[in-house]
Amino acid sequence: MSYTAEDERLINAAYEKMLKSCERVCKNEESWNYIKRAFFLAKEAHSGVRRRSGEPYLLHPIAVAQIVLDEIGLGVKSVVAALLHDVVEDTDYTVEDIEHIFGAKVASMVDGLTKMSGVFNADTSEQAEYFRKVLLTLSDDVRVILIKIADRLHNMRTLQYMPLNKQIKITGETIYLFAPLAYRLGLYPIKSELEDLCMKYRFPEEYARISALLEETADKRQEYIDRFCKPIIETLDKNNIKYDISGRVKSVYSVWTKMQRKQIPFEEIYDIFAIRIVFDALPFPSEKTQCWQIYSSITDLYAPKQDRLRDWISMPKANGYEALHSTVMGPDGQWVEVQIRTRRMEEIAERGFAAHWKYKKATLSQNDDAFDTWLKKVRDALNSPTESAVEFLDNFKLSLYTSEITVFTPKGEQRQLPNGATALDFAYDIHTKVGDHAIGAKINHKIEPITKPLKWGDQIEIITADNAKPKAEWLDIVTTTKAKQKITAYLKREQQNNVENGIALFESRLAEYNVAMSGRVLRKAMQAYGCSNKDEFYSHIGAGIISLDNLEKVLKTSSTSKLLKFWKLFRDSDNEEGDGLAKSETTENFVIAPCCSPLPGDKVVGFRDPVSGKIVVHKATCDELNRLASQYGKHILKDDIKWSQHKAMSYLSTIEIRGIDRMGMLSDITHIVSDDFSINMREINLRSHDGIFEGQVSLYVQDADSLNALMDKFRQMKGLESVKRIDNPVVE
Ligand code: MN
Repeated sequence: MSYTAEDERLINAAYEKMLKSCERVCKNEESWNYIKRAFFLAKEAHSGVRRRSGEPYLLHPIAVAQIVLDEIGLGVKSVVAALLHDVVEDTDYTVEDIEHIFGAKVASMVDGLTKMSGVFNADTSEQAEYFRKVLLTLSDDVRVILIKIADRLHNMRTLQYMPLNKQIKITGETIYLFAPLAYRLGLYPIKSELEDLCMKYRFPEEYARISALLEETADKRQEYIDRFCKPIIETLDKNNIKYDISGRVKSVYSVWTKMQRKQIPFEEIYDIFAIRIVFDALPFPSEKTQCWQIYSSITDLYAPKQDRLRDWISMPKANGYEALHSTVMGPDGQWVEVQIRTRRMEEIAERGFAAHWKYKKATLSQNDDAFDTWLKKVRDALNSPTESAVEFLDNFKLSLYTSEITVFTPKGEQRQLPNGATALDFAYDIHTKVGDHAIGAKINHKIEPITKPLKWGDQIEIITADNAKPKAEWLDIVTTTKAKQKITAYLKREQQNNVENGIALFESRLAEYNVAMSGRVLRKAMQAYGCSNKDEFYSHIGAGIISLDNLEKVLKTSSTSKLLKFWKLFRDSDNEEGDGLAKSETTENFVIAPCCSPLPGDKVVGFRDPVSGKIVVHKATCDELNRLASQYGKHILKDDIKWSQHKAMSYLSTIEIRGIDRMGMLSDITHIVSDDFSINMREINLRSHDGIFEGQVSLYVQDADSLNALMDKFRQMKGLESVKRIDNPVVE
């Protein structure tokens, strides 16, 4: 009674179409009955309800089931869950009812889908919390997320019926999360369609413009593609290969983002299409060999671009993608990308996860592949208690889109890391302990800092030291979720310990001086040591950054700033130039000589550059200065130059060290620099040969005194023979 005759007609048409697609998955009578029962339950439950478009609500779950079947390639249980996905949410049926009729598996899938529907209605943190819960379903059943993506795809396809504010909200969620998720699960066509739909609703003019441009240029492009493919087709035919060859045009969205990213007009996008060859692999030789054979015959025709060869067969992408990509020089001097893959690879590329598992089951493979590894990482991240839900969501999101590189351990084991990952990310990928104690890396047998970004194929050995530990700056160095989590966890623990130790130390010291703890005392001490809040103050004491040796004096003095060492100030050096160097009374421009990098406290001489008119400040001992003085003597400034010094300013300085190599030398050096002196090291570069090591350490120091103190400390180190500050560091 609540469905009109027209409704019935629409529903039946959709239902028949869906049943047709079910033929692929329904192997027996039982399966058919299962699906039919789900359909009738959904029909009953949603009766009388309409979508905004005016059509019966039931058409929505049928459409979602259709996507689940045709575009994702899932099976009977998923079709049932798709048909029922809004039943518990929107009607009086409960999960228990579903379980009673369809069993526990379907019920838990519907439950997962139901929990998800509230996800994006709440404010950010709640939204993030929900999402975290939802992703937990990913760890026990990926199909739930896949059905949710199908649901989202259908809602996006029918978005025109939504009011503008809802459109903005829904497209926002889609571009932020669902499209990346679809990509990560290997659903390329769905990912592209979601992106295009988002653009169409949010940037309708740009969308229309680029669509039109693609349309206008279509004929010319096809002509070129035909010309390009002709000799390839002849070769493939001659070799009796069964294949499809086609030109694949970039999506509107990816053309648009590329135009924006590269700041170029439409006409300058040279890779607007790629050629795809999908072939039926023979049982022998291996699929990989057959792909390379085709590659070989194509590169007989067109010269390949060496650095654009991508072998995703030997090392598939983390989302399961396999293919051989090559860029070759086509007619008219145009680079053309060619993608070569088998039918199986094609199905995985189009249908992602579902196809992946189908083939994996078929080959009875027990080995974890890239996809399993990713799922495992997601699970680990979900189980990590250290992050707030918001942090988790941000980090998880980061892990979705980044392309990956493959690197190797010293033993040749492969590791997948996101593009842009550093040696430190690798260290944490190996083990938390390795990360926590990392001090450097040997990348392809060469010593590099842990900040070094990794490249495809790098082989990395991490150098650790027992006394090394994570620092706050490390958070800027790492890109992986795991490393971020572990460092944050360590710092939080350390901070907590430091605060506790700091309180104890401060109180015991006060007791020694018979001073009662009070707000006044605390404020005075905090101010004297340059701390703005209690946590900072106590944690600095706990970490040993503040020593309380002169506390008694501090508490007695009335003026507070005496502890801070300032160089004679001409004027506040918080200037835009930012070089921290003296501004003279006449506010002339001073620059630090790059040849000798003088530090505050060094004896310096000014030299007026005849070209720029600026005053270049050299160390009094600088060779370059001597050379200049001999030629342009009258440009040397007669007046003394004095330093102004801002306490936060640091200068780059390089020292050279040489000594007898021994175990732990590098770690001792880094330990002294980072822990004893809290100086930031920019680079450390040591070479060792025949038991001797030598190298350079570049540091950011505040003045000559602290550099001298550090060098004295170095000189006391066992095995270090010579330590000298160098004026002209070799920049490598
Ligand atoms: Mn729905």
